[in-house]
Amino acid sequence: MPNHLNILDTPIEYVKGIGPSRGETFRKELNIHTVRNLLYTFPFRYIDRTKFHLIKDVKAEGDNIQLKGTLVSVEKIKGKTNRSRITGTFKDSSGFLELVWFQGVTWLEKSLKEGEEYIIYGKVNVFNGNKSMVHPEMELVSESAIHLTSTFDPVYPSTEKMDAKGLDSKTRRKIINSLLITIEEKDVSETLPPYILEKLKISSAYNTLKWIHFPSNEREKELAVNRIKFEEFFFVQVRLLLSKIYRKYKYRSAPFATIGHYFNTFYNHKLPYELTNAQKKVIKEIRADMGKPVQMNRLLQGDVGSGKTIVALLSMLIALDNGFQSCLMAPTEILAQQHFESISGLLQGMEIGIAFLSGSVKGKKRATILEELKEGRVNIIIGTHALIEEHVVFKNLGFAVVDEQHRFGVAQRARLWKKNDALAPHILVMTATPIPRTLAMTLYGDLDVSVIDELPPGRKEIKTIHKYETARPQLIQFLHSEIAKGRQIYIVYPLIEESEKLDLQNLNDGYERLLQYFPPPDFQISVVHGRMKSADKDWEMQRFINRTTQIMVATTVIEVGVNVPNASVMVIENTERFGLSQLHQLRGRVGRGADQSYCILMTDYKISKEGKERINTMVRTNNGFEIAEVDLKLRGPGDIQGTQQSGLLDFKLLNIGTDRAIMDTARNFALHIIEDDPKLEKPIHENIRKEVTRLKHQYKDWARIS
Ligand code: ADP
Ligand code: MG
Repeated sequence: MPNHLNILDTPIEYVKGIGPSRGETFRKELNIHTVRNLLYTFPFRYIDRTKFHLIKDVKAEGDNIQLKGTLVSVEKIKGKTNRSRITGTFKDSSGFLELVWFQGVTWLEKSLKEGEEYIIYGKVNVFNGNKSMVHPEMELVSESAIHLTSTFDPVYPSTEKMDAKGLDSKTRRKIINSLLITIEEKDVSETLPPYILEKLKISSAYNTLKWIHFPSNEREKELAVNRIKFEEFFFVQVRLLLSKIYRKYKYRSAPFATIGHYFNTFYNHKLPYELTNAQKKVIKEIRADMGKPVQMNRLLQGDVGSGKTIVALLSMLIALDNGFQSCLMAPTEILAQQHFESISGLLQGMEIGIAFLSGSVKGKKRATILEELKEGRVNIIIGTHALIEEHVVFKNLGFAVVDEQHRFGVAQRARLWKKNDALAPHILVMTATPIPRTLAMTLYGDLDVSVIDELPPGRKEIKTIHKYETARPQLIQFLHSEIAKGRQIYIVYPLIEESEKLDLQNLNDGYERLLQYFPPPDFQISVVHGRMKSADKDWEMQRFINRTTQIMVATTVIEVGVNVPNASVMVIENTERFGLSQLHQLRGRVGRGADQSYCILMTDYKISKEGKERINTMVRTNNGFEIAEVDLKLRGPGDIQGTQQSGLLDFKLLNIGTDRAIMDTARNFALHIIEDDPKLEKPIHENIRKEVTRLKHQYKDWARIS
């Protein structure tokens, strides 16, 4: 064993009981190369050694349990497809249990001993009154001496190949146990400053390592788990905050010192309503940011209908007051067009050059816009991702707004920055996908976050109602009465790629049926779905916006941003097939005017438990953040839009859905520390600095996060 190394850096094959061949398996199967990797691959559960169950009392679908008894017989059975399995009969004082293994057959055949007493562990299945256990963990009672002292035995992540090499949890337990006996306190560097350990009553790095593998009681287990969770989130936050500082230092932007003619004229004479306090607060935050010579990178979160657009517009006017151009990029043509029209309307009579650019703007018109943009005669340009194409050149872009940011990839956003060679434009990304605070902290830990947490006054709470198919006649009646009042209606059908044909058919059938209840010429119906040409979509959309049509039948293409205040009813078909955040976005299409609005969730009688919870949540609350929290719990973080590729959420133990308190604490400590000592130079932060350096080597490309 090379002696100049810390024992934790010892290559895995040098560990007693491992050797070159098993070492190779560790490397290939679990990416475990060193003792450190081995010890920091934590158990994912524990066997409670204090309890033995009786076979006769065991119920199906229960937890993993421990039994003690005799392995009566073992048999190898050749399967039809040439795959062998091992079956065994196990008995205790109360009954019999069948054991089955499909993996590691060769190894098991050699090692299992008929007639011996075993402690076994696993989940019991019951089928036709017969009880069985698949892949139980087996341990000879005669060899379980080590457990006489232990309360919980760790169970480690494994693979088929690991098991085949005899590297099951039991073997690993032995290896890790003897390693932990050798390792001393000095070998395990403390990564946190002593004052944090004291203040939070956190266990030391050394104890944590011992206890996470072999806790002797519930408390030790909990202390170890909590420290690891804290540390996982703490260091992600420290790294994000450091990167934010680095970025501020690297990317200079023009300071917008002046609030002048454009902003003031608009604010004092053109603003059609009083801003909400939340809007005012956010504008202040943006103003303060843009006033500095460092690039603003701000995320603006605000529930659907909270009035983000006006905030973006006022910010663009500040840029204009300082002689800079702005752009607003939206994810769809419809949305970009809508922004263009509403902003043009608001700025009427103000001598401001506004232009619209998308893929559909072509030929001479396009050439003129590009020319004027380059010369600076266009002050504000609104459009789709066409804005970030190579040949779109600004005179001096100072401020860029990205609407509904989760629809754009990171790379697309980064291209905006490059639209100004000299000084990076200030960036505001807006999202109506409410991201739970915990998730925002992780994902956007290096962005500043503003929240509009208040809706404009006078909005009536949308009434959300769940109805079954049998209530359709009443629904039709209700829709008639709303239309009679002059209101408009959305009817949304699910459409997913896998079942696209069928989904489109459903939509078309639904449309045909509606025609009977709402026949032309008295009634007109728009149809919009993703498979239509964008010009046709726009035309249909336009007919709805100018009230030619009373009903819009659509797929989720209308999910984002569309603003038709006269629409007061949102009917969602096959509601159980939509995700929560999608439902919330859809509901946000109504309730935009002064009238009472309704969201009607249609379902079949058969709904899964999770589907029911989604629907109940929608009926219970209109609060996007509350909905996002439930969504996070139901689906886990991996599915939340935008998080998939971030790689930031690969925590070993931390659960961002449920460990909120730990995350808050860790985030606050990280903030204070980086504020107080941004270079981590103080002796008191030495442990942190060392760990950050180590992590930097471990994740070389971490700087590319965000
Ligand atoms: P979102 O945040 O979903 O993008 P919008 O910016 O589209 O919301 O605003 C939704 C609607 O609310 C628009 O019709 C807008 O004119 C209106 N609105 C925004 N702010 C206010 C306010 N302070 N008072 C009244 N209406 C407002
Ligand atoms: Mg919007």
